[in-house]
Amino acid sequence: MENIHELKAQLASPKDIVIISHRNPDGDAIGSSLGLYHYLLSQGHAVHVVLPSEYPDAFLWMPGIQNIIVFDSDQERTREVCERAQIIFCLDFNSLDRIDKVGEIIQPLNSVKVLIDHHLYPEPFADYVMSDTTASSTAEMVFDFIVLMGHRPDISRATADCVYTGIVTDTGSFKFSTSPKLFRIVAELLELGVDDYKLQDLIFNSLDEKQLRLLGHCLYNRMEILPEYRTGIITLTKEDYEHFDIVRGETEGIVNYLLKMRDITMAAFITEQPSIVKISLRSKGDFSVQDICRKHFKGGGHRNASGGFSFQPLKVTLRKFKELLPEYKDALNNY
Ligand code: 5GP
Ligand code: MN
Repeated sequence: MENIHELKAQLASPKDIVIISHRNPDGDAIGSSLGLYHYLLSQGHAVHVVLPSEYPDAFLWMPGIQNIIVFDSDQERTREVCERAQIIFCLDFNSLDRIDKVGEIIQPLNSVKVLIDHHLYPEPFADYVMSDTTASSTAEMVFDFIVLMGHRPDISRATADCVYTGIVTDTGSFKFSTSPKLFRIVAELLELGVDDYKLQDLIFNSLDEKQLRLLGHCLYNRMEILPEYRTGIITLTKEDYEHFDIVRGETEGIVNYLLKMRDITMAAFITEQPSIVKISLRSKGDFSVQDICRKHFKGGGHRNASGGFSFQPLKVTLRKFKELLPEYKDALNNY
């Protein structure tokens, strides 16, 4: 990060700070935000974490989670803490539209904005930018940030638990985006007392019965395989959401099951949401789903995990997605 010394100087005295992460927060959004939260609190700052929408129950055990302000249920308080903030940290997203209305709130504010993120092509809305598209997770970058601030020896157990959560979720339990550096950081987290077995159990074995039945429904009734394009698709309708009584965050991870099939390069999870159709894409190897999401579905993300959306009906969106496949046929077959 350029100007790191300037930011370090600003953080040398107590500040009013807000940390914001993205809508439909995942383990990395929550883990990186709360990890930074505990660090900044320990440095004497007044800190608030803001999320645009609710977090999944699987993370309820995390230290500090009950203090998070959720914009959807507390708009006034969100506005109040943002307007008071001298510094706003933006974590795990690369453009203000990923935080919806909260983006409109913070854009005009004069507060210093700091972006810490690992997504491709960050938009230039922040005063200080720490962008590392090779990082496994924003949580790993929060660890790097604390090291840059010179406080590696002071990392608390609470920060370690939160950083571990961001790393283990965004790497799919150390399957993607790993590096020797990452494993060294994780080793250090374990030395700080992180109980990795217990945390993985809390995070990953947290489905309830309806979610497990929904998974069965997706794989048995809603899955389509297109061998010619090495692509698997799962779609969910509004009626599916009603029948299984599920909300969006509870479908997390379903898309990954498609990649378990031999000879599948790309997985698509296309779902009917109240006002949009949401698209989640995953891929293997060099095949970039980021490219597809950016060009065709107003979205983006990472090469192997991206998302986007469409204002057209589910059927039309599905047709549009399938019509794109011939263009990518060679790449899908030579990933
Ligand atoms: P997911 O498919 O789990 O929702 O998201 C996968 C990745 O794509 C995440 O890193 C997320 O930040 C990114 N992503 C998901 N939806 C969108 C979107 O609508 N716009 C952008 N720019 N990125 C997205
Ligand atoms: Mn992330």
